[in-house]
Amino acid sequence: MNSTTKLPKSMPKSLTNTQAMRYNRHIVLPQVDLDGQEALLNAHAVVIGVGGLGTAAATSLCASGVGKITLIDFDIVEQTNLPRQTLYKEDDVNKRKVDAGATHLKALNSHCEINVVTVPFDNSHQDIIADANVVLDCTDNVECRDVINTLCFNTQTPLVSGAAIRFEGQLFVAIPGKSRCYGCLRKLFNEPNLSCVEAGIFSPVVNIIGTYQAMLAMQVLMGFDNLPLNQLITFDGLRHEWQHWTLPDGLTCSLCSSD
Ligand SMILES: [Zn+2]
Repeated sequence: MNSTTKLPKSMPKSLTNTQAMRYNRHIVLPQVDLDGQEALLNAHAVVIGVGGLGTAAATSLCASGVGKITLIDFDIVEQTNLPRQTLYKEDDVNKRKVDAGATHLKALNSHCEINVVTVPFDNSHQDIIADANVVLDCTDNVECRDVINTLCFNTQTPLVSGAAIRFEGQLFVAIPGKSRCYGCLRKLFNEPNLSCVEAGIFSPVVNIIGTYQAMLAMQVLMGFDNLPLNQLITFDGLRHEWQHWTLPDGLTCSLCSSD
């Protein structure tokens, strides 16, 4: 396990025999092994925004054996969410997303502790971020993204950011002390605050990006050394292209310029 990992604060738990059998297809991977699966078991992942990205990410994290997941969202499930937010069912319409999501995730994996926060994300959530081993930014507005980036930087918490609109998606991993932060990326690509309501979103694209966020988050938790630091990853679902864009040397933002 390398230094990108934020270690659990309590005594680490070991996998039971039942869990070791359940996650066998992970454990046979030499890059994961028992140590990696136990790192997931002892990890706390915070998913901010439980829409298209967040439901895809949380489902993969929960099914894969992450021990504790906190879902943060104040939204209600709407019928227009169902084409892409596949964690929710028709009966969930008009329920709070975090409540419906927690119910379905617990049914998927009873070993996973699910916590929910039902108020909009802001600076008051610093304690939750400080407790997390990784944060997944699955929100859809830049103001919230800036707050998440600041809290992750201040608490030295790894951040996996995802975004999707139309047929396009993007991903960015920030490890405080190891890479540039999300604010540095924003200096390069200061996009208008477009929403999927206005611009549209092709359903599979948001699932692809959310699931990719979960993969990156688990690789952070397991201390993989292959993480795409200082890089923006983009996906184009019309051209069927993935691209990596390396942030220029010397790029800094006001938040992380002193490190
Ligand atoms: Zn920065």
